[in-house]
Amino acid sequence: MADENVEMWEKLGIDIEKHNALLNRLGPAYQEIFLSRENRPEGMGFYDFVVGDIHGIRVKELRAHAAKGGKVVATYCVFVPEEIVWAAGGIPVGLCAGAQFSIPMAEPILSRNTCALIKSSLGFKLGLVCPYVQASHLIVGETTCDGKKKMFEILNEYHPVYVMEVPNKKSERSQELWLGEVRAFKDVIEDLTGNKITADSLAEAIDSVNARRRALQRLYNLRKASPAPISGRDALLVTQVSFYDDVKRNTQMINALCDELDERVASGQGIAPEGTARILVSGCPQAIPNWKLHQVIESAGAVVVGEETCTGTRFFSELVPSVDSNLDKQIEAVANRYMNIHCACFTPNEERLDDIVRLARECKVDGIIHYNLQFCHTYATEAAQVEKRLEKEGLPLLRIETDYSDEDTGQIKNRVEAFLEMVKP
Ligand code: SF4
Ligand code: SF4
Repeated sequence: MADENVEMWEKLGIDIEKHNALLNRLGPAYQEIFLSRENRPEGMGFYDFVVGDIHGIRVKELRAHAAKGGKVVATYCVFVPEEIVWAAGGIPVGLCAGAQFSIPMAEPILSRNTCALIKSSLGFKLGLVCPYVQASHLIVGETTCDGKKKMFEILNEYHPVYVMEVPNKKSERSQELWLGEVRAFKDVIEDLTGNKITADSLAEAIDSVNARRRALQRLYNLRKASPAPISGRDALLVTQVSFYDDVKRNTQMINALCDELDERVASGQGIAPEGTARILVSGCPQAIPNWKLHQVIESAGAVVVGEETCTGTRFFSELVPSVDSNLDKQIEAVANRYMNIHCACFTPNEERLDDIVRLARECKVDGIIHYNLQFCHTYATEAAQVEKRLEKEGLPLLRIETDYSDEDTGQIKNRVEAFLEMVKP
């Protein structure tokens, strides 16, 4: 571990001992899930390098930005419009909240019956183990679920937090409310950064974020090939890293990976032989380093070819349409784009059911695994509708409800294996 990293973490107020314990757990897990596997695309080397220094290189870049007076804005949900932050000269960073490690640090405060993502988020702040949280000038929360919105009140006692109100319906009135929220967010970010957003700066930000979305769409489309050219674990990692990497560099790296995958597809080279069971994962987000379900599925001999999640298609399938260089119109276009995310926090949410069916067909899957974080009531309840719809469409479904711990891994493995036995081509 570079001394300069330790010095930087100390300056950020990180609890070095606990932080060492976190990194010591991450290394062996990464080795087992990623590095030990063969036939990975060479383009994954960039991601191995980034994760190998997960709290070093990128944090250094954020600190350099802050040293010049720049601001870092941390988020937890794909509803927070990152274009607004980039356009004001800030850097948005999607926080991870996918680690079991930080959960015990939040449990003295939060009820045990709280979703792992919420506990992990608060634990990272309370335990002083995340340099991204520490390097951020503002955390932006949202009212997407009850657990999160109440957690943000507590988090605000320890770190500056601003909460955006996400409506629960997609009616015209709700869209007006959301547009007002995006406008208010613009004001907050302008105040924080001291920079005025202009039509030009917002147009540039929209282009950059759209370019990354297109690159991720390209990766997603390449996974439709049979045999699949990349594992679900690697593809998931690419999306997870996109949440905190520089948007332009990230776009380049995804496109370079896709160039390599184009060649694999053209020559019929797959990550697993043709005839391997193909699975679509749908449900709650899998924030880094939550690779548990993908690891179980792929270790059981299947390949994950798509994710209908916020660390999958919900993150990149909609672009912001180009509009005239008029700031008001651009803000409206940004707001509308975000209202097209089909999160289970909306009622009704038929569009998500349509998406799952469409994606299952596009990716030619043999089955769908619905991934539910325990105590996430919106996704758990919506799963009943997902089940009904998929039954009608003749698409096999397995529902998994779990958390970040390893306690139930054996049991999930048995259920996944039995499911694969049933659906394998
Ligand atoms: S599942 Fe809903 S609340 Fe969670 S990150 Fe996605 S959009 Fe946000
Ligand atoms: S997974 Fe569900 S309960 Fe957890 S933060 Fe997201 S919406 Fe809320």
